[in-house]
Amino acid sequence: MKANDRRQGVVTRHTWYGLKASMRVGPWVLHRSGFFGLMIPHPGLANWLLRLTIPEPRRSTLSLAHEFGHFQTLPLMLLYAGGMLAGISLKGHFTRCGLLFSLAGSHAAWEMASELFAITQDKQFYRNCYTGVSIWPRTVFWALCVFLVACGWILS
Ligand SMILES: [Zn+2]
Repeated sequence: MKANDRRQGVVTRHTWYGLKASMRVGPWVLHRSGFFGLMIPHPGLANWLLRLTIPEPRRSTLSLAHEFGHFQTLPLMLLYAGGMLAGISLKGHFTRCGLLFSLAGSHAAWEMASELFAITQDKQFYRNCYTGVSIWPRTVFWALCVFLVACGWILS
C-alpha cells in the first residue's frame, strides 16, 4: 500500500486469483474499488442498508469485508452472469427485459455472495456487530436479493 493510499483510507488485499484489489469505503455511501490502482467510484447501497445503525468502526470493517467479498467472488459471478446471458440467448429471451432481469439477478447474486463472504470471515464478530440491531434492514436486503435472483431465473 502506498503512503498516499493509507492517508486516503484505501485498503489493499490480495485476491485468491493473484490480483491486488484496492478498496475505500466512504465518505457516506460512496465506495471506490478496483485493480491496478484504477479505483471506480460506486454507491455502496447494499453496505448502507446492511449497516444501518451499526456504529463505526464496526460499520467500516464489515463494509470492507463485503467489498473484498466482491473481489473474491468476481470469477464465480462472471461465470454466473455468463451462464445467465447464455441461458437467455438459448431460450430466445435476449430482449431488453430479459437482459435487464438477467443482469439485475446476477448483481443480486453477487451481493449475496459478497455478504456471505463477509459473514464467513469472522462469524462471531459479525454476530456481535448485529447484537441488538434491528433485523429489518437485513431482511429487506436478503428478501430483495432473493427476489431479484428468482426473477432473473424465471424471466430470463
Ligand atoms: Zn456489495
